Amino acid sequence: MNHVVAVECRRCGRRYAPEDVTYTCPVHDGDDDGVSGVLDVRYDDDGLREHVETEGVPDSPADLWAFESFLPVGAGRTVSLGAGGTPLHEAPRLSDRLDTTVRIKDEAGNPTGASKDRGTAVVVTRAVQAGHDVVTCASTGNAAASLAGYAARAGLDCQIFVPADIPDGKAVQPRLYGADVLAVEGTYEDAYECCRTVSADRGWYNRSAALNPYAVEGTRTLGFELGRQAPTADWVVMPMGNGCSLAAVWKGLAEFARLGLLADPPRMLGVQAAGATAIYDRFVGEDEPGPERATGTAADSIDVTGPHNAARACRALEESGGDAVVVDDDSILRAQRLVGESEGLFVEPASAAAIAGVERARETGIVGVDDEVVVVATGTGLKDTATAERAVGPVRTVSADPDELPEL
Ligand SMILES: *Cc1c(COP(=O)(O)O)cnc(C)c1O
Ligand SMILES: [Zn+2]
Repeated sequence: MNHVVAVECRRCGRRYAPEDVTYTCPVHDGDDDGVSGVLDVRYDDDGLREHVETEGVPDSPADLWAFESFLPVGAGRTVSLGAGGTPLHEAPRLSDRLDTTVRIKDEAGNPTGASKDRGTAVVVTRAVQAGHDVVTCASTGNAAASLAGYAARAGLDCQIFVPADIPDGKAVQPRLYGADVLAVEGTYEDAYECCRTVSADRGWYNRSAALNPYAVEGTRTLGFELGRQAPTADWVVMPMGNGCSLAAVWKGLAEFARLGLLADPPRMLGVQAAGATAIYDRFVGEDEPGPERATGTAADSIDVTGPHNAARACRALEESGGDAVVVDDDSILRAQRLVGESEGLFVEPASAAAIAGVERARETGIVGVDDEVVVVATGTGLKDTATAERAVGPVRTVSADPDELPEL
């Protein structure tokens, strides 16, 4: 059973029946967040509490549909590729290097290689239940692959808008799933506006970050899982691009705390790359970042200069008693190699930014030596081997003659 009571505008507080609005608040045209009137799905806490009392909550869910009663979908068909239920790894050697206790929530094992699959599972299920034929989104790559994969699974058409300079693997993956991919000459923000206009004209169902209120709802299952797997964590560390993912994870953690399922929710530490610091700037009170700061980053998934959920991410940081840090590309690439060498995990640069963020937060004293830290590794590094090669250098070529091998 679905426990949604309303969708609520985060700007003006108006509440709507979910069937009355598709994306954003229709009343006001204020725009403090890149998207006018981002909506937040509200649930009946009493109903959920009753559900928890009678059914309990899964400790090790096979996938996110184990939390179906917490998700905004109808009783009909759900679309699944097996997102969620990801492992939390101990990371002893990385902990030594970072001088605090770190564990890694490894989202690379999601069906298309990133945590975006959690939001997509819910969005595509809603699309199917509402009878849409075409789904679309603008993306730096992972949401594109995710939407395309789930669209293929559901038998829907998929139209993708990406910035032209995304990594090759990220441009190929959605096409392999049968989506039409348009590489927009411009930034992610240009692709976003393009997608928004065209999809409104054609009536395509749009998954784009913050515009669609339901992606966040699927992603909050990551918070649920962390609440079960790491109930004593002091910090949950995540990269921030649009800020949707961090806000979603906090929403899930806070909800479990309200329902009595988590005694002491962690603080959120949001990490941005030095070339795209808009959420950090807003959090520390510099609303007008100097232009020299929006220079882009190798961490393509967080290369978002005009984030669409900055206000919500900042509120999550505040509510959790958390903090934000910025890391440069050199430290991101070093962290990518470090987590590979020390723990056997090939994470993408945006995820490595979170590792580098822990390092930074230790230096500045935000994170203490005795703290328990969970880093969310949001996506696999295998989609972007060109950037990873910058971290490890080129491969050595040798003669096939064993006698001529160099000293090993
Ligand atoms: C989308 C994404 C992020 C950033 O999430 P936001 O919701 O945009 O803040 C970080 N890492 C990976 C791998 C992603 O795909
Ligand atoms: Zn409103």
